[in-house]
Amino acid sequence: MDARTTIPYGRQSIDEADIRAVVEILRSDWLTQGPVVPAFERAVAERCAAAHSVAVNSATSALHIACIALDLGPGDLLWTSPITFVASANCARYCGADVDFVDIDPITSNLSVERLEEKLRKARSDGRLPKIVVPVHFSGQPCDMAEIHELSKEYNFRVIEDASHAIGAYYRGEPVGTCRYSDITIFSFHPVKIITCAEGGMALTNNSRLAAKMERLRSHGITRDPTLMTHAPDGPWYYQQIELGFNYRMTELQAALGLSQLSRLDQFTARRNELALRYDTLLSALPLTPPGRIPETKSAWHLYVVKLQTDSCKVPYRQVFERLLESKVGVNLHYIPVHLQPYYQNLGFHEGDFPQAERHYTQAISLPLFPDLTESQQNYIVCCVAEALQWIKSR
Ligand SMILES: *Cc1c(COP(=O)(O)O)cnc(C)c1O
Repeated sequence: MDARTTIPYGRQSIDEADIRAVVEILRSDWLTQGPVVPAFERAVAERCAAAHSVAVNSATSALHIACIALDLGPGDLLWTSPITFVASANCARYCGADVDFVDIDPITSNLSVERLEEKLRKARSDGRLPKIVVPVHFSGQPCDMAEIHELSKEYNFRVIEDASHAIGAYYRGEPVGTCRYSDITIFSFHPVKIITCAEGGMALTNNSRLAAKMERLRSHGITRDPTLMTHAPDGPWYYQQIELGFNYRMTELQAALGLSQLSRLDQFTARRNELALRYDTLLSALPLTPPGRIPETKSAWHLYVVKLQTDSCKVPYRQVFERLLESKVGVNLHYIPVHLQPYYQNLGFHEGDFPQAERHYTQAISLPLFPDLTESQQNYIVCCVAEALQWIKSR
């Protein structure tokens, strides 16, 4: 095994068909605002059994316009998980709204439905209920959406699924993205995610009004629909800006790559699942907690996160992590709890606010997982993990 270059924790899988698809766009009439973005949107919506989809330049942009479409503004509150990428919380701040977090379930590392219910009850009596809750399907395993949906009806909040990890995952037999239990679902197509556009994201919804609004917001708030204008068009050139939008458009190059990648989605998730099961077996004798599963879901396996049995002591964690990096195993940590980031500390969050998330932070290690990871690379990773744990014990 050649271990001179670090095995990354995640990476894209690009084949000749992907390359041809992108090159074909370079020779075509449209580099942006052509026919491929709508084709990619239709293909993802169809794959996920959602009525509408809006492609944008990142999942971060999708989260932003989803929040605006759901009327999030100053004085409003958005709740999400502290164990996520910062974007799941930042979208509220872009809208001038406040953020709060719901602690995680220690088994799945998803937002805990019990903590959510508890916090909602308290928030109701304090008169400070959230307008939006953003469950994050951590590592590709869906949250318990049916229960979250029930709570959304009882407490009158909207739901945006941050499914950045979870295109290709299933919940109760249906693909993530159907929006059966949410208002909007967003995907990320960053290269480490399940399928990639280099950069890209998408928002899915079954609500045509939300879809039309997000479509406008991605392109400056401009419309060419006469029924939305303040007066009849001045001529064929005419458009109106009816609200403040952005340039969050996806290019034709990105969409062509995404469309080509989408045809291998099942292949990618099957391979990820196979490698995850293989990790389970190979690591079973080591003092590690494997990723927690819940029966009603089929994970897309964006990440394979093991937990060290460290009893919350950060020193051995760091040593194991560094030892693995020295062995050129590109482990990663998903995630630093968002409420511990200086930006959020300045907004009043403290260490100790979300104990399960903070415990996760002292134990979780993401091992390399991506479709092109070979079995011999995986064997090497497992050997390095065993060696690092042995080395810690011997010190
Ligand atoms: C990657 C990621 C995002 C942001 O995705 P981009 O496409 O890079 O903007 C948001 N939320 C989660 C949970 C992510 O993993």
